[in-house]
Amino acid sequence: MALVISLKLGFANATLIRDQGAILVDTGTPASFDDYRRLFVDLQLAPQELRLIVITHGHADHFSYAAELREFTGAPVLCHTLAAPALRSGHYPPVRPRNELGESVRRMIAGQTPQARQTLEPDLVIDGDYDLAYYGVRGKILTTPGHSPCSLSVLLDSGEAIVGDLVVSSPFSGQATLAYFADDPPRLFSSVNQLLQSAHTFYSGHGGPFSAAEVAAALAAG
Ligand SMILES: [Zn+2]
Repeated sequence: MALVISLKLGFANATLIRDQGAILVDTGTPASFDDYRRLFVDLQLAPQELRLIVITHGHADHFSYAAELREFTGAPVLCHTLAAPALRSGHYPPVRPRNELGESVRRMIAGQTPQARQTLEPDLVIDGDYDLAYYGVRGKILTTPGHSPCSLSVLLDSGEAIVGDLVVSSPFSGQATLAYFADDPPRLFSSVNQLLQSAHTFYSGHGGPFSAAEVAAALAAG
């Protein structure tokens, strides 16, 4: 069975999946690149064992240091076709609050939006499902739009889903909530509903992991 490890790296989480091969989903926002070097040592993972870096969407707190990590590990960087411009430029459209919580968080983080450390050209861009068998991981990448049009999730055959910002913890209550920033709320709900058909655990870019029951309750709460 695959081992899934949530790595809290500053403002955002990265998630390491170790199956026959190892892949990283998002890169977090550590204080410095040395934090990754230490992490690979702690995890007893040789940099060249990493086979792929998946970026769940084009918000800078999810691809910080991706260029340096690619150089360090040799692993290609994959994102959705629609996320590529953000990776190339470091710029992305403003987030859209979909509720009161989103408005509050936007006020709270005003002026502190994470910036990309270094821009990069992704190696692989996809706009549909993508099997991970080639990388030694039993699972696939799904397009799960809603938080942003370029949102991807990794769904493992063993039932873990790594969902980026589709489901996050509220900075106020710590509880699971569907993304409070969403470009397309109806698509967000249907993406989460789709993942709930197969996933028992949800790994998030912010907080978590969450059980399917917690995510179902968050979906029901709207
Ligand atoms: Zn985001």
